Amino acid sequence: MTTSDSELVAMRRAISLSALGLGSASPNPPVGCVILDRQGRPVGEGYHQRKGESHAEAHALAAAGERAYGGTAVVTLEPCNHVGRTPPCHQALIDAGIARVVIAVIDPTSRGAGGAVRMREAGLDVEAGVLVEEAEVVLGPWLRALRRGRPLVIWAFEVAKDGPTAIPRSQCDAFALRAGVDAVLTAGGRLIEGRPGGHGAGVFSLPSNLTGDPALVLEKLYKAGVRTLLLDGGTDVGGPFVDRGLVDEICSFVGETAPSGVPPTDRALLPVGFGIRSVSRGTDGVLVTATQAQLSEAQKWPS
Ligand SMILES: [Zn+2]
Repeated sequence: MTTSDSELVAMRRAISLSALGLGSASPNPPVGCVILDRQGRPVGEGYHQRKGESHAEAHALAAAGERAYGGTAVVTLEPCNHVGRTPPCHQALIDAGIARVVIAVIDPTSRGAGGAVRMREAGLDVEAGVLVEEAEVVLGPWLRALRRGRPLVIWAFEVAKDGPTAIPRSQCDAFALRAGVDAVLTAGGRLIEGRPGGHGAGVFSLPSNLTGDPALVLEKLYKAGVRTLLLDGGTDVGGPFVDRGLVDEICSFVGETAPSGVPPTDRALLPVGFGIRSVSRGTDGVLVTATQAQLSEAQKWPS
């Protein structure tokens, strides 16, 4: 059976929903799910909000109720197979009488023996690999953190005359840089939660202050459940991480300047090794987002 238009629409809805879990779901993945009834009409949806609470599939099944029977579950990550604080989702889908399951990304932790296999064994029609690239727009940081055993690191700063400096709080808020990350490291090693009112430091048991070797800092944060870290500050905050090749993404804010002005310094915009991925015009300036351009280019400032 090929993926229907209504399943593709549902998957994109599920991907969008899954992003609501960013900044709160860690160390679990941000996952979204939409249930379609027998006629392909959406009858339930949900996302995973935080560890210890219901998974996306459970929320969607609860909303769909009996309309899920004979229907299709569209989910951004392979339904889980482990019994944790909540029952395994693959079993919940089977019990609800779901006939078909459409999955984007196969869970790398299931090692080929996860929910997809169990559901096929139970006679469900399971299709995986649907809109993988689009689903990884949201799941990517979690997948990369898992693969490397350290959080994804984003460094945000403002381009100033003498090099990078802390981004103004108003611009940090305007571009919502803290909303989707688990933790924020600022000057002096001060550590705070990403989204105020999100998971909070209580969930991760983060220390209020964390300094030292960048690799060890990331190791400690990963063990505490952090999967995305924002470095919020100038060279004093981000420099040691860039020097060690530990920055994955840069958000560089360029404030208003007169046309035909003189660039401040050659250290102003991005370290060598980072290529521009997107540029957003805000009300008071421009935000440049960059990631590692080529593996052959070392991360460093021009000397
Ligand atoms: Zn689950």
